[in-house]
Amino acid sequence: MLAKAPRGTRDILPGEVEEWSTLETFFRNLCKNYNYREIRTPIFEHTELFSRSVGEDTDIVGKEMYTFLDKGKRSLTLRPEGTASTVRAFLEHKMYAQAQPTKLFYFGPMFRYDRPQAGRYRQFHQLGAEAFGSASPEIDAEIICLAMDFFQSAGLNQLSLEINSVGCPQCRPGYREEIRKILEKNRRDLCPDCQSRFETNPLRILDCKIEGCREVTLQVPEILDHLCSYCVQHFEDVINFLKLLEISYQVNPKLVRGLDYYTNTAFEIVDTGLGSQNSLGGGGRYDGLVETCGGSATPGVGFAIGLERVLLSLEQQSSQLEYTEESRIFVATLGPSASARGLQLVTELRRNGIAAEKDYQDRSLKAQMKQADRVGAAKVLILGEEELEKGKIVLRDMEKGDQREVELEEILQILKNDL
Ligand code: AMP
Repeated sequence: MLAKAPRGTRDILPGEVEEWSTLETFFRNLCKNYNYREIRTPIFEHTELFSRSVGEDTDIVGKEMYTFLDKGKRSLTLRPEGTASTVRAFLEHKMYAQAQPTKLFYFGPMFRYDRPQAGRYRQFHQLGAEAFGSASPEIDAEIICLAMDFFQSAGLNQLSLEINSVGCPQCRPGYREEIRKILEKNRRDLCPDCQSRFETNPLRILDCKIEGCREVTLQVPEILDHLCSYCVQHFEDVINFLKLLEISYQVNPKLVRGLDYYTNTAFEIVDTGLGSQNSLGGGGRYDGLVETCGGSATPGVGFAIGLERVLLSLEQQSSQLEYTEESRIFVATLGPSASARGLQLVTELRRNGIAAEKDYQDRSLKAQMKQADRVGAAKVLILGEEELEKGKIVLRDMEKGDQREVELEEILQILKNDL
């Protein structure tokens, strides 16, 4: 047990980390171009923040939160998503008082007590972006464009963008009642989750993946025919802006998403080749959320992308992220004084911005050359007691296979000129 990570969590090992940080860098660079600024919020928040914003009746709040009492008897929760915390920070730091919109992005671990399977973890990582303060459909299109550009930069261009409108507090209640009226006679055919959704949030029945529920919902009319005129217009405008930006999309009238705060636009990016956990990211508009969290009415729109799923999708496509390995110098030494001088030398190189490594185990020269290969050294410096006495060092080029003796005092300059 001690040597095993908790169920649903995993280590990201050296070799994998490079891919993670490459994706982070792609996202950071894109966000800079789109003028979104990074925010880092705490890993845990007051439980109430999530129960109020994500919604008491959602699976996330009802079943999946890591909630605990701290020693001061406060109820805290490991964040299951990033939007609520960003809204909280937006209010706490009075960002609404600045010129709007406020455009933010984040990256970090999220926690949900989900049933672990391929692409589904209890600790997973999301990168996300949120824009507050503008109800313009242009910003819905911008946020979708940012998400799609990220996938594009990662080399995923076979994804499908599904989009829908989930209406607003004016038109949604009527549609909810309509669903209840139609499904009343089929209540017993619904899965246990949907039977309770029938009471709490019948819209969620529409995107239940269970076959029986899917069949039953075929008779439910599309939400797009039940929107108020504001929502119809907003949806049309978003679609037109997507066309303008040449972003392909598919309207999916059954798309609802698992968080209660969405209004108007809801979207999801799926990789149809991925099996059951095929959603790589999703988001939407949440014009009531800031108010729910205690602020004054402020529109907002955002998305979150699951990094584990992005990597899974890349793996499925047999695509490799390209990143450059740092070239490295290996200092091979023979004998205790050469080893001490070697330690001084690697430190000098490192302090001058050159990645360097040495042996710490008194290995033979042959073993040290193997080690140099393992760390991917392009050049090896060889320092024996004899060279040390002469004030020389051997510089070996691993690719060309040639070597020459140079002045020990000049080695830093020579390497600097070379690199
Ligand atoms: P959500 O916050 O539910 O809208 O999810 C946004 C994205 O986060 C999804 O599309 C997934 O890529 C990812 N995600 C959500 N839950 C998990 C999980 N349990 N494990 C891995 N990724 C997840």
